[in-house]
Parts: sequence; C-alpha cells; structure tokens
Amino acid sequence: MSHEFSDDERPTDFRRPATKVVQGGRRKDWVGLESGGAIVNPPVWRASTILYDDTAALKAGLKTNEDGKLFYGRRGTPTQWSLADALTELEPGAVGTMLFPSGAAAVAVALTSVLKSGDHLLMVDSVYDPTRRLCDAYLAERGVATTYYDPLIGAGIEALIQPATRAIFMESPGSLTFEVQDVPAIVAVAKNRGLVTLIDNTWATPLYLPVIGMGVDLSIIACTKYIVGHSDAMIGSVTSSAATWNDLRLTAQVLGQHVGPDDAWLAARGLRTLDVRLARHRDSALEIAHWLQARADVDSVLHPGISDCSGHEIFQRDFRGSTGLFSFMLARGNADRFVDALRHFGIGYSWGGFESLALPADPGRCRSVNPWTRGPVIRLQIGLEDVRDLIDDLGQAFLLI
Ligand SMILES: *Cc1c(COP(=O)(O)O)cnc(C)c1O
Repeated sequence: MSHEFSDDERPTDFRRPATKVVQGGRRKDWVGLESGGAIVNPPVWRASTILYDDTAALKAGLKTNEDGKLFYGRRGTPTQWSLADALTELEPGAVGTMLFPSGAAAVAVALTSVLKSGDHLLMVDSVYDPTRRLCDAYLAERGVATTYYDPLIGAGIEALIQPATRAIFMESPGSLTFEVQDVPAIVAVAKNRGLVTLIDNTWATPLYLPVIGMGVDLSIIACTKYIVGHSDAMIGSVTSSAATWNDLRLTAQVLGQHVGPDDAWLAARGLRTLDVRLARHRDSALEIAHWLQARADVDSVLHPGISDCSGHEIFQRDFRGSTGLFSFMLARGNADRFVDALRHFGIGYSWGGFESLALPADPGRCRSVNPWTRGPVIRLQIGLEDVRDLIDDLGQAFLLI
C-alpha cells in the first residue's frame, strides 16, 4: 500500500497530528524513482554543486529561485525540504518553514528578519537565557531596544507598546520557571496594533500547541530537543505565516543558513515517532510531578499541568498536552547535592532526548521584571525509562540530602 501523496491528492483537511508526523514530507518526487518504486523515508541527498542540463536551464534557475527546486547546495535538497515540509504541515495556516543549524540560530534569524535599527522589541522575562543575551548584547549594539515583560501580563502588554515597537516575542511555558503565557490575548493586542508576534514553541511543539493557527506569525522550535529526540543532532526551525514568510526566507538565505543533510535526516526520522514519544514524556513527567507535589520536602512544582505553576489555568485552556520538562524546588537541602545523588538522571544541558536529565539552575540570574528570590530550581527532563525506576531514584536522593 502506498502512503505517498502528490500535492493535489494530499488530504490535508482532516488528518490529525499523529498521522501528519508519519506522512509529512514524503512527496512522491522526493522518495520515488522515475523507474518506479518509492523509499519510505526520503534519503540523504548530499550536494553543493547542482549540475544544469544547459546554460538556458542555469539562467532559468536563477530567475525563478523557487523552493523545492535544486539550485545550489545551500538551498538544500529533498532531504531538507522534506523535513521543512513536514514541520509546515503540523502548523495549520503556515506557509513555510526554514531550517537552521541550531535552535539558537533559528531564534537569531527569526528576530533579525523582523527587526531593524531603531525598532523596539517586547521580550518575555522568562525567555531562554541565550535569547536574552542576543537582545542585550547583539541586538542592543545594532540599535534594537528591548523591554522585558512579565510572562503573566496577558492583554496588559498593550501599555508597554511604544511608537517604535515592532514585535512581541513569547516563550510559553518559560524556561526554568514554566510560567504559561496568554498567547491569544497577546496576539489580539499585536494584531490590533500591527505588530509581529514570535514564539519559542520548543516545549509544546505544534502537536500540543499549534500556534500559527492561533494567529502567531513565527513559530520557532529548537528541533534539537523533541523533534530530533535522541540527543545526537542539532537543528532549529522557524515556521511562518504568510505575512512574515518572505522576510524570513530572504534573511535566512542572505545569512547563509544551512542544515547538513545528515542532521536533517536524523530530525525527520525523529519526527516520525514524535507523537508516541511525547505521550510517554507527558505521562511520566505528570506522574513524577504529582509525586513530588505530595512530598513535604518539596516546596513547589513548576509544571504547567500542576496548580502550583503560574498560568496553570491558561495551560488547561490552550494546550493539548504537557511534555517532559519541568522544575521543582526543595523545601530543605541543597539542590546540587540532590542532583549529584541521582543515578538514572544525567547531568547536562539540553533536553528532549529519550534519556532523563537533571539540572540545578538559578533563575535569579536571568530575570529583570520580577526578580526571582525563591532560590535555585531543579529542572528535570523526564525520559522514556520506566517511571517507577525514576521515582525510586528520586526517592533515594531525598534520603541523601
Ligand atoms: C535549547 C533551546 C533553544 C536553543 O536550541 P539549540 O538547538 O540548543 O541552539 C532555544 N529555545 C529553547 C526554549 C531551548 O530550550
């Protein structure tokens, strides 16, 4: 049975996300041979030079500069296009996706595609710290001013808009502290005032929060996390609405952004199992979050699905699910010692792979609107291990601090 669809026979209207991650990007002309037959996953096409049939074809290629046509290696091959196409399909209402060598590059180029010298940016205070550094160092030096806002501000963001304000950047839930933002309220204000909206959607992915359909212009994902899913490649993506697509595409091209075909292929392979992996991350993380919340030696659990977490009601209203990353705070004892006592949790940056990780972190270092005075958090990435082993491990660590 064939699962490959050409453009006009693709039944886009009724398919659910779990079906889309299986079928996405498998266009007939990217997986099939003219002599017949088709490969299930688009293979790794490596290219720098593209050979043209004649000079007329060379000149025609320059003129059209179309997506989905071989032009030069930097513009990609079916390996990268297939991944980009699959990611676009997951965001109803989106027109295209650009790929980047990391999530950080995706954030930087998305912002650069929207902002120019003299513009003002509204940035959520709970943003991923390297994004903050991009604004405070790089963008500030190039004439873009940033005002940070409370992640719980909602429609109140209107009061922060200045004549030069051009864009609002969201990340929901926030890094380390997991505040959930009122995306629809912020988007409504932005549309009313003619501002561009961007969101770092790495935590929820389009499976649990399809943001383009909610009116956001640019959806950024560090595919390094859940899309790759196996802690062995780095990729970023930006999926765009029609309004911002041309600027995004042009900026990525002139800045020479390119993802190697091997990494694109790893991300495409990871994407196929995203729905089942997220369900396991979600269930195990929720079980552990509830288990932690019930303990007297835990101060609070910062998980969007738990009532301790700021914006929990908005999470329940807007999200289709939670994923495997959250934080908690000890009521007593030392966070570093707790993490050192764990046996099944690796100690390291990043997350979204199949393996569990633990990280002591101090959000106080990277907040400016509401100073964080509650001390360090322990951030857990709950992997695909048996949740009972993870709970046993956490339980023994509480005995050692
Ligand atoms: C990890 C991360 C990024 C950056 O992704 P890299 O691929 O590591 O560069 C961006 N945003 C969030 C929320 C992240 O967690």
